[in-house]
Formats: sequence, C-alpha cells, structure tokens
Amino acid sequence: MSYKYKMKNSFYLIIFCFLLSLNSKSIYSEDTILSQNEAYEIQFPPADKVEIRIQKITENLFLFFGLGGNIAVSIGDDGVLIVDDQIPSVMPKIKDAIKKIGGGDIIYTINTHWHYDHADGNLALDPKITKIISHSNARNNMLEGGIIDLVNIKVIQEPYPNYALPVITHETGMTLFFNDEEIELVHYGPAHTSGDSAVIFHKQNAIHYGDVFVTEGYPFIDVSSGGSIDGIINFLSESLTKLKPGAIILPGHGEIATLQDVEDTIIMLKTVRERILKMIDEGKSLQEVIDAKPTKDFDEKYPDWLGNFVNRAYTSLKEEK
Ligand SMILES: [Zn+2]
Repeated sequence: MSYKYKMKNSFYLIIFCFLLSLNSKSIYSEDTILSQNEAYEIQFPPADKVEIRIQKITENLFLFFGLGGNIAVSIGDDGVLIVDDQIPSVMPKIKDAIKKIGGGDIIYTINTHWHYDHADGNLALDPKITKIISHSNARNNMLEGGIIDLVNIKVIQEPYPNYALPVITHETGMTLFFNDEEIELVHYGPAHTSGDSAVIFHKQNAIHYGDVFVTEGYPFIDVSSGGSIDGIINFLSESLTKLKPGAIILPGHGEIATLQDVEDTIIMLKTVRERILKMIDEGKSLQEVIDAKPTKDFDEKYPDWLGNFVNRAYTSLKEEK
C-alpha cells in the first residue's frame, strides 16, 4: 500500500506539524493544552480511512505502519508478540493485518514508552489474552497520566485504567524466549523519556527503538518526561554494542534504517550538543541559541518535524548544568 496512503498520512502529519509550529499569534500558543481527543483529531486521519501497511522483515518478523508509532510483529509457534500498539480505533485493523500474515491472538505487547501514539492501543486489548510489558517508569507514566510538552502545544494524556497497564515491568532490561527467538528489552537510562525500552530480536538481527530513534527528522526529546539529548546519545551508543553488522533498524516513526543511519544520528546529536553547550557556557539565552541555528547544516537531512528540537536540546542541557 501505497503511495497514496503514505501521502495521505503525510498530509495529516504535515497539518499537525504546521499547527505545532504556528507561533503565538495563532489559535494555538505555548499555553494551549489539547485533550487527547483533540490531539487525535489534529494528528490522525479518521480510523476508517487508515490502512495498515505491512513490511516483511524476515520470515516471522514484520513492521506495520498505520497511525502513530511503528509496530513490530513477531509471529510463530508461540503466538504473536507486538512492539507498540498505536491507538484503540485502529486496533481492529491491526488485528486484521496480523490475521493476514498468519497470526492469531496477541500474547504479548511491549510498550517502548508511554506516549499515546505508541501505547493507547493498550486500551483496546483484552488483558485475559494479552500481557503488556514495559519499563517501570513508562508504567508509572501510564498509571498517573501527564502532559506531553511539545513546546508549541501540550497534550494531556489521561491515566490508563488498570486493565490497560503493563503487568510485567523491568528496570534495566529483560529477555523473552518466544517464537524460537531471543527478544531482549534494553534500557540505558532516560533518553526520549525516562522509561524507554528498545527491543532487540537477536536471531533476526533487528531492533525496534521506539522514539529513541526515528527516521522522520530530529528526535523529540520529551524533557518533561525525563528525556535529554545526552540520554539519547548514550542510549543509542550503548545499544550499538548489542547489535551485529547488518542489523535492521526499526524506528519509532518513519521507514526502516541501517546501522549507518544510527551512527550518523549519533554524530549529528553530538555535534549539535557541543554547539549548544558552548553557547550555554557563553551565557546565551534560548532565543539566542535558536537564532544562531546550531542545526543548520543538518536540517536538510533531519527535518524539524515538531519545530522544537533546539528548544528541547537546550532545555535538557541547561537542566543538567
Ligand atoms: Zn514518543
């Protein structure tokens, strides 16, 4: 599927990013707080317009593109395991897509982190059938709810009811032996949020990074959820020690990537970090740093899709001082 579908989804993404990037003269300002439903309406097309695009990675590993974060799907003798589950209204389509590739009930769902576009699908899963797994901090975020601060706007994420919460959590990592595969969750401290898990499929030599790594542009650093630019650099660098040459990189958003793409991203992040840090040491304000365009030579390769990258990088570095 198809180019047309991708174009449509891109259209909604562009509208969302446009709304996010509007300045304070617009209907939205830094003080605008959207409910989750309002955020859905702006960010996503109606569920009945969505089709799930399926990309086969290996014999029993697939990547689904639909609304929100990408879903990795492992299918085999033990059943179905998915990484991230998008939003409730598309769950019937996700389940249909799983059937199409020969799968049945979802036995495990791993949430890479708590953001609604990756984890709200929990609300549409039956806890008697599906066990949800996440980092303990991600579970706490889902339990308590909170505000996701995208700078240009803020989105309220409501607390999840008990049935939609992870029933298995980890602190520094864990491994599942499922579908004749070693599926390892790794966590190297706060990165995109305080509770990120990347998921490595060792036999398949693939990793789903959640939003610690995306291929749609600069990463979103959710500083108010404990994320930081240093954390993302550290998380990506540490994870590389676990991967073999030729590893298949499944990003939280965007198309499949290579190890080289991750290495390039680390270099970009380190370069921008150094530039911003130098200006902080010189006493420059946030606005002065933004005006100095510290990402200029990277902007073509990494669009600032949320319009907040320098702001969030600066803020996280300033907080560490
Ligand atoms: Zn996220």
